Amino acid sequence: MKIAKVIVDVPASSINQTFDYLIPERFQDILAAGMRVIVPFGPRKVMGFVVGKTDESSFGKLKEIEDVLDLTPALTGELLELGKWVAEETLSLHITALQAMLPQVLKAQYKKELTRMGEERLPDALEELFAGRDVILFEEFTASSIPYSQLQKSVQDGVISIEYLVKSKITKKQVTMIEPAKEPHQLEEAMQDLSKNARKQQQMLFYFIDNPAPVEKKQLLKMLDLTDSTLNTLIKKQLLTSKRKEVYRNPYRDETFAETVALPLTPQQEEAIGLMKDSIADRQHDVYLLHGVTGSGKTEIYLQAIQDVIEQGKEAIVLVPEISLTPQMVKRFKGRFAGNVAVMHSALSAGEKYDEWRRIQRKEVQVVVGARSAIFAPFENIGIIIIDEEHETTYKQEDQPRYHARDVAIQRAKTHACPVVLGSATPTLESYARAKKGVYKLAVLTKRTNEQSMPAVEVVDMRQELHAGNRTMFSRRLKEQIETRIQKGEQVVLLLNRRGYSTFVMCRNCGHVKECPHCDIALTYHKNSNRLKCHYCSYEEPMPINCPECASDLIRYFGTGTQRVEEALTQLIPEASVIRMDVDTTRRKGAHEKLLNQFANKQADILLGTQMIAKGLDFDNVTLVGVLTADSMLNLPDFRAAEKTFQLLTQVSGRAGRHELSGEVTIQSYTPDHYSIELASEYNFQEFFKKEMAMRKTFYYPPYVFLALLTISHENQVTAVQTTQKVVQMLLEKVSGDTTILGPTPSAITRVKDRYRYQCMVKYRNEPNLRENINEILGSFSEEMRKNDLLITVDMQPYHLM
Ligand code: ADP
Ligand code: ZN
Ligand code: ZN
Repeated sequence: MKIAKVIVDVPASSINQTFDYLIPERFQDILAAGMRVIVPFGPRKVMGFVVGKTDESSFGKLKEIEDVLDLTPALTGELLELGKWVAEETLSLHITALQAMLPQVLKAQYKKELTRMGEERLPDALEELFAGRDVILFEEFTASSIPYSQLQKSVQDGVISIEYLVKSKITKKQVTMIEPAKEPHQLEEAMQDLSKNARKQQQMLFYFIDNPAPVEKKQLLKMLDLTDSTLNTLIKKQLLTSKRKEVYRNPYRDETFAETVALPLTPQQEEAIGLMKDSIADRQHDVYLLHGVTGSGKTEIYLQAIQDVIEQGKEAIVLVPEISLTPQMVKRFKGRFAGNVAVMHSALSAGEKYDEWRRIQRKEVQVVVGARSAIFAPFENIGIIIIDEEHETTYKQEDQPRYHARDVAIQRAKTHACPVVLGSATPTLESYARAKKGVYKLAVLTKRTNEQSMPAVEVVDMRQELHAGNRTMFSRRLKEQIETRIQKGEQVVLLLNRRGYSTFVMCRNCGHVKECPHCDIALTYHKNSNRLKCHYCSYEEPMPINCPECASDLIRYFGTGTQRVEEALTQLIPEASVIRMDVDTTRRKGAHEKLLNQFANKQADILLGTQMIAKGLDFDNVTLVGVLTADSMLNLPDFRAAEKTFQLLTQVSGRAGRHELSGEVTIQSYTPDHYSIELASEYNFQEFFKKEMAMRKTFYYPPYVFLALLTISHENQVTAVQTTQKVVQMLLEKVSGDTTILGPTPSAITRVKDRYRYQCMVKYRNEPNLRENINEILGSFSEEMRKNDLLITVDMQPYHLM
């Protein structure tokens, strides 16, 4: 077949289709669907995906493919199909959906190199091209007349590998390596000459006599419990030398993981896994909702179900929220499956992510553990897909393509005829309702594996604290509890329940609040840099000395950010040592992990942080969990506010008393009677489900209806409103009588980056043509979108209603 169908990398809705290109002779034998190519497009050259081949084209004169970027397809046939499905489901551009499935490195054009692998002789022409070198530039190959098919074969045989030159400044790090400067027998002689008192020097020399290989300095000193001064003395004596070495950072490479074996299961676990194993054996697609309290052994079930899948020669995808992709979680999978696991998360550099992806592509591993995008792992024989903490909203992507990993998981599992397991202590209303209706199969774990009961939860009414004259953010009860723990040498986790927790700047004289000049939002004060920053655009400015309105110098920062809480805490309890975890302290790569390790090593009494500390942490010495402001989320304009509050409180309570020491939980609240707080303190999921379902029914929200959110934005406010009005009108003409259309409503933050944003919300039960209709409406605005900088975005499953 001489013609390729190509999806080109031109992100515009008018180009959302395949284009035909002629396949030149030199690519005839090698080109396959799923490969990336370079094609001429108008005056430009763009990247594209080959999605199929054909002999005939309805287009007139065809242009030729200029270059082929892959010799092995980057996307499998299944993923190509899935990309089409994702694009259709989420109303995204086909190209965007395809690119979402690939690691960053493959989205851009990087320089390539050919590396020869091993000593094996290459075909003559290639041997000549390499001319004794181990690595050559890809261009050298393209400049030669060697057929692509020959290179492709060598790549397939594993004698040549194609490497991308990824510049990864972030990940390159230098370490100091120490090695002996003399032969072992010389070191021994030197040791004889040392005075008897030089015990430390002897100890270090001893080490190198036994282990002459270079060792990282930090590791060496830690291992021997010695200091720089001993080392420096030996370097001065020219017995040891130090050199700098560049290493690529891989958080897990150097670690060894203690091997674990399958635990004998509890009867409840047996029952749950039995069902899943049946589905695996029968190659049957089922969705399981594994509803189990924290510590009930869900992860052990995942591990054993995966074991089953591996034994059948199949593969497993495990999704965990980015935030719980902690070393502790990774350790459990690596401990059980060792080198058979790839790990994908955002802390990896582009190069490292690509390396992990390639291990999957090359079938070097059977298990991937990763955040949302790992759902697109290029496995071809999937036996199970697991989504842990299925209620987490991070499974929904908030950019194009706006997919939910749960939907993609189910779609892939249908193709592979395998089960999906959704695990949670606090399932979403959507999933639990489906399980009750029998759409999903429900498996329940009600007991903790250590037979310990869930920690007792106490709710403190903060209104009464105010009445009693306590104006601090710590109730008397919580303060007293913290002090007791510190005395006993036990540890405390304190949670600030709020997203976007921030400090704003206000003038005490005139009340002026500093706002972003481009967005309708107060600027956030950053203490470290003493600057004001906008969290919606990149705008920032120095903290003013005088109020820009009234020139008073009484301009101050307000709000209870984590920094402020930390200050207040150390004022109240001076002897407390605190580790603070928030976006500021965890921005740097590896910081998250480091802080957690410090806390685990008992270097602080209190771990204070935002949502990011609520999940997956497992510290044996934590006996008190405090929630400072349980209700701060309840006031947000979000119909899921109560659900999110319930989930968070339940999750965080599960952090206490996981081990021998029993734990307590104290929740501070201004609305202690709110059902989400009351029922969370009783661990009463069933009752919460009932109450919240009734609310959703009354107010006509999911799971009783589906939502679609259209956001229209433009620099001119009138244009934005009027366009939204038109969109609402057009939708009303197309939908059925049962469907509600709301709008135009200004978005919660109406102006962002100098653009006004208005919304139209569709609430529907059965609207089979909705996607088509919306597409048609988008089409009718395409001219205006292109020429007039109008933007319309569609979210078919909105989570952020703001
Ligand atoms: P979850 O994922 O539901 O929070 P985990 O799988 O982390 O629960 O289990 C909690 C603890 O119980 C872990 O330390 C785990 O090793 C242990 N555990 C799990 N299953 C068993 C079992 N069948 N017997 C003994 N201990 C178990
Ligand atoms: Zn002022
Ligand atoms: Zn801004």
